[in-house]
Amino acid sequence: MSIGFISSPACAGHEMGDGHPECPARLDAIRDQLLSSGIDFVLRHFDAPAATREQLERVHDPDYVASIFERAPETGIERLDPDTCMNPGSLDAALHAAGAVISAVDRVMAGEVPSAFCAVRPPGHHAERDKAMGFCLFNNIAIGAAHARGHFGLQRVAIVDFDVHHGNGSEDFVKGRDGYLLCSSFQSPFYPFTGTGELPGNIINSPLEAGAGGAELRRLVEETWLPALDDFQPQMLFVSAGFDGHREDDMAQLRFVEDDYRWVTERIREVADRHADGRIVSALEGGYALSALGRSVVAHLQGLIGANSSHPV
Ligand SMILES: [Zn+2]
Repeated sequence: MSIGFISSPACAGHEMGDGHPECPARLDAIRDQLLSSGIDFVLRHFDAPAATREQLERVHDPDYVASIFERAPETGIERLDPDTCMNPGSLDAALHAAGAVISAVDRVMAGEVPSAFCAVRPPGHHAERDKAMGFCLFNNIAIGAAHARGHFGLQRVAIVDFDVHHGNGSEDFVKGRDGYLLCSSFQSPFYPFTGTGELPGNIINSPLEAGAGGAELRRLVEETWLPALDDFQPQMLFVSAGFDGHREDDMAQLRFVEDDYRWVTERIREVADRHADGRIVSALEGGYALSALGRSVVAHLQGLIGANSSHPV
């Protein structure tokens, strides 16, 4: 069965200035690799709708949401934090990025597709309840998880985050909140210098030292994430799929390769098969080395589709 691939032309309209690594070319690089790998034939493409204010406010403070609408510039660039800005296309991009994850949840819950990947930008996992930061405006994956709980009434949802940066925004949302589990790997110490220290039991943080590679990732997934996920028995799994831990990505110093992303995705899919009728919604976070990003997304999609796929990908 085909899996969903959800994006929006609006996501290409967000630009943060010349030379900014979080650029529209990232989505082009992914599309190029979908075609050249042949995996595009087993995807069902959907256009993302815009998220509603009500959907955003399940995660974000209403005043913060209002401020993002108010600060959206008609011309030029509006700076929200040292590395996060808005241009005239940013608000629409951010609404469609969050809307893509909402739509993915709707389609997976309806049984239209077993799982879905959202190729969206801006990314989301650094966005806190009332703060934009780290290239992120709205916390797309948390908004999707909250939709699964709030709209569909799921009792337990899990977020898995393998971006090279700690998802402080997702942790901020999940921390101590019933019905959510967050498993996260990230380079540490590293931006945003969070994710260590005393944490409640529904946050499983797995920091990795600079230079760590796939062997270290696989060990921590097997030793910490999988037992926690099996114990929690999530009814839907969400993935903050950041590919900036790839060895070719000079944003950080982890050394993952495509096969590591395929492997971790297969393990996530097995958990989803055991507890969640296979339901997975994944959304793009980081990944800035364009070729490695495209190849890694293909590996992630292969992991979502599974070894039983008849398609030779
Ligand atoms: Zn990142």
